[in-house]
Amino acid sequence: MGKPTGFMEITRQTSRELEPEERIKNFNEFHIPLHRDEQQTQGARCMDCGVPFCQSGTMLGGMASGCPLNNLIPEWNDLVYRGQWDLAVRRLIATNRYPEFTSRVCPALCEAACTCGMTTGFPVTVKENERAVVEYGYTNGVIHAVPPPSRTGKRVAVVGTGPSGLSVADLLNKRGHKVTMYERSDRVGGLLMYGIPNMKLEKWVIDRRVDILRQEGIDFVTGTDVGRDISAEELTEQYDAVVLCCGAKQPRDIAAPGRDAEGIYFAVDYLTSVTKSLLDSGFADGKAISAQGKKVLVIGGGDTGNDCVGTAIRQGCTGVTQLEMMPCPPEQRAPGNDWPEWPRVLKTDYGQQEAVAVFGSDPRLYQTTVKEFLKNDAGQVCGARIARLESKLVDGRRAMVPTGEEFTVECDLVLIAAGFTGCEKYVAEAFGVDMTPRGTVADAKYAASKPKVFVCGDMRRGQSLVVWALREGRDTAAVVDEYLMGYTNL
Ligand SMILES: Cc1cc2nc3c(=O)[nH]c(=O)nc-3n(C[C@H](O)[C@H](O)[C@H](O)COP(=O)(O)OP(=O)(O)OC[C@H]3O[C@@H](n4cnc5c(N)ncnc54)[C@H](O)[C@@H]3O)c2cc1C
Ligand code: SF4
Repeated sequence: MGKPTGFMEITRQTSRELEPEERIKNFNEFHIPLHRDEQQTQGARCMDCGVPFCQSGTMLGGMASGCPLNNLIPEWNDLVYRGQWDLAVRRLIATNRYPEFTSRVCPALCEAACTCGMTTGFPVTVKENERAVVEYGYTNGVIHAVPPPSRTGKRVAVVGTGPSGLSVADLLNKRGHKVTMYERSDRVGGLLMYGIPNMKLEKWVIDRRVDILRQEGIDFVTGTDVGRDISAEELTEQYDAVVLCCGAKQPRDIAAPGRDAEGIYFAVDYLTSVTKSLLDSGFADGKAISAQGKKVLVIGGGDTGNDCVGTAIRQGCTGVTQLEMMPCPPEQRAPGNDWPEWPRVLKTDYGQQEAVAVFGSDPRLYQTTVKEFLKNDAGQVCGARIARLESKLVDGRRAMVPTGEEFTVECDLVLIAAGFTGCEKYVAEAFGVDMTPRGTVADAKYAASKPKVFVCGDMRRGQSLVVWALREGRDTAAVVDEYLMGYTNL
């Protein structure tokens, strides 16, 4: 520990965010990182407390607490404080192969479990320290292509190039196996590319990493839908192992009358169209689903819904309402939700902040759901009947049920962000692997129910977080390596 009294003497300082009115003018990232010297000072706030829940990734109260990758946080915080940036990069990438992604999009489970946060309410800036370390690594050539010194002669196909696929591919390639990644979409990255909006993760960050992976020997085959364009049999014949990393993108629909109206889209389809049009042509092709001049209704109060709010505002919507079934969470931790558990408290994310700035109020309507979509004579959605909900005991279980109160919201664009019901079944069916009742692919320690076939990421665990996808990739790589070689050093 560099500075024993750092947490008492130094105030938490985070990156500056552009004001909402300014940042909605484009789709760029809007955090301005601290200067390296300032970040170095922040490293001194880590007290090396000896109770490192920050790196534990333990399940507490049904939620993960601390970093699922078990990042060596106190170690690299100390190296940051001492200005030993090269070493900090090496300690960081020892557990986290892609800190440039997590340090931009991770909800920072580490900070919620930081001991400094318990005592002062202001945790160490772990996530931003991580970003400073990885960006130093790129700028100063510490992170660069390192192809494996020799090859094992084994060939592995990885289906899906989201964070779990990229993670498993990187480690198996480093081990010397020849890896080919198959991707249905036109670009590599999974939900990092087409899902998470550009203002949270600019897409050159993914391309920068993919360039390195290519130089290290990984082959990428995009625009190829495994199970349709190429059969499961072909793949299992051609490769010594196949790892399915296809995500859990099956959206939960809203079964309400009027659902067939024009102008109702699933959130990921909407977000994908916007990012693709941005990357292909800077929006000149006009192919993005547009919220410009429209009143937008977002169904779902979670992170995906928030991404829709932020995107619609950037496109120039004239109003936005976000429905959330559950009650508004408390502003402070409630009794029974103590540190270091993940805090179940009200979070006003970037999109909601922007809605407050532009339209004067938080877009979220709690304890509500859609009862009916209303359409005009042309079949276009023009409104929705909303039912108010309350929490009641039904057959001994708590459930949200209608109060009987209803009202109407006007809208010309509806975005459904109501969660996901698992992976798309056709891939599992093509490979003949078992599914769970949760809509994910069943596995025994990442091995699917067919020989040679493994499963990883959201496809195995259901829709989750980037940091979990990376953890799954790391664990799966070790299992696949052991299957191929009889032992593993991963
Ligand atoms: C809108 C949105 C925003 C999110 N924001 C965050 C965030 O801010 N922070 C965070 O931590 N998590 C976030 N998440 C969750 C996170 O993105 C996922 O948990 C993570 O990407 C899962 O990684 P994965 O590799 O398992 O799957 P995915 O990222 O879903 O990648 C799966 C890939 O497989 C490909 N594929 C599927 N089937 C086939 C096939 N048959 N042949 C070839 N390729 C195929 C898909 O095209 C896709 O590229 C968000 C999710 C959504 C939907
Ligand atoms: S990956 Fe996420 S939880 Fe882990 S150290 Fe980084 S920000 Fe924290």
